[in-house]
Amino acid sequence: MIPAPPLPMQPPSWQQLWRGAVRDPRELLSLLDLPGLAWRISDEAAARFPLRVPHGFVARMRKGDPADPLLRQVLPLDEEMRPAPGFDLDAVGDAAAKTGAGVIQKYRGRALLVATGSCAVHCRYCFRRHFPYADETAARDGWHEAVELVRADAGIDEVILSGGDPLSLATPKLAELTAALAGIPHLKRLRIHSRLPVVLPERVDAALLGWLAALPWPVAFVIHANHANEFDASVDAALAGIRGAGAQVLNQAVLLRGVNDSVDALADLSERGFAAGVLPYYLHQLDRVQGTAHFEVEEDRARALHAALAARLSGYLVPKLVREVPGDSGKRPL
Ligand SMILES: *Cc1c(COP(=O)(O)O)cnc(C)c1O
Ligand code: SF4
Repeated sequence: MIPAPPLPMQPPSWQQLWRGAVRDPRELLSLLDLPGLAWRISDEAAARFPLRVPHGFVARMRKGDPADPLLRQVLPLDEEMRPAPGFDLDAVGDAAAKTGAGVIQKYRGRALLVATGSCAVHCRYCFRRHFPYADETAARDGWHEAVELVRADAGIDEVILSGGDPLSLATPKLAELTAALAGIPHLKRLRIHSRLPVVLPERVDAALLGWLAALPWPVAFVIHANHANEFDASVDAALAGIRGAGAQVLNQAVLLRGVNDSVDALADLSERGFAAGVLPYYLHQLDRVQGTAHFEVEEDRARALHAALAARLSGYLVPKLVREVPGDSGKRPL
């Protein structure tokens, strides 16, 4: 029998890359030639909030460097299990601000839709690590209730797709949601908050860009990168695609000890982002969530870093330093 000719090589789909993410902390360390770091892994922390990181993001980590700023963002360490007073389960008051299934409204004019609970990468510092977003109905039975809440409130002029990561939904699902929102006359803008263009840039495929370009509103696309090393050619290409589809691209970062808490690291982040067409938006002070205390940069130091950054960079490259305070009418500038 003549064997069938091999199929032409297809690049893996973003879904395949998503599913192929590294989930075993020890495997991650061995990929990075860091087996000696294994004693610092906390299996308990990993059981509560599992490791998850796509291979493409791992490829941007430096081999043999236990202090790599990308590695630190994803590796479950024993520090997470240390008790830290003042670090709670719901530090930002999300549970109280929920107005209905999958909708969080804290600020005037803006409704945040929790499109889905899942993320392609699990960031150890994330304020959502304890929030049961996976239980949200928004992804499960459509968004009817969320969309109806937005429709019923003429004071809402901007919908923010967030999560989790909204781009973890398949493009037809996103299209279903925006088609439902398109019938609401008081909506003037759409905002998308996603870390996927950075951690899994393959997600930004032709279908996604087609959807983005066809949206009936001006779009703000807020990515999330904390360190210049998170950018590479594949991220640049994804961001060029998003801008090409007409969206304004902004970055928000979290100030993290051991990741980006130096003027050099913050300046590099702004400059590297701008080279990819991204303007800095916010630099967040860490939300005081259980298991994240070792990432905290104390407020005086945060202010000093921010002032030094402002003294060094063009004004438009300086993000606003903010903290989220439950009950405030917006992010609080520091
Ligand atoms: C951060 C946030 C927003 C957006 O705030 P901006 O200052 O406009 O970026 C909106 N809704 C919720 C619930 C938020 O947490
Ligand atoms: S991608 Fe965003 S929401 Fe998801 S774990 Fe990271 S910081 Fe949290």
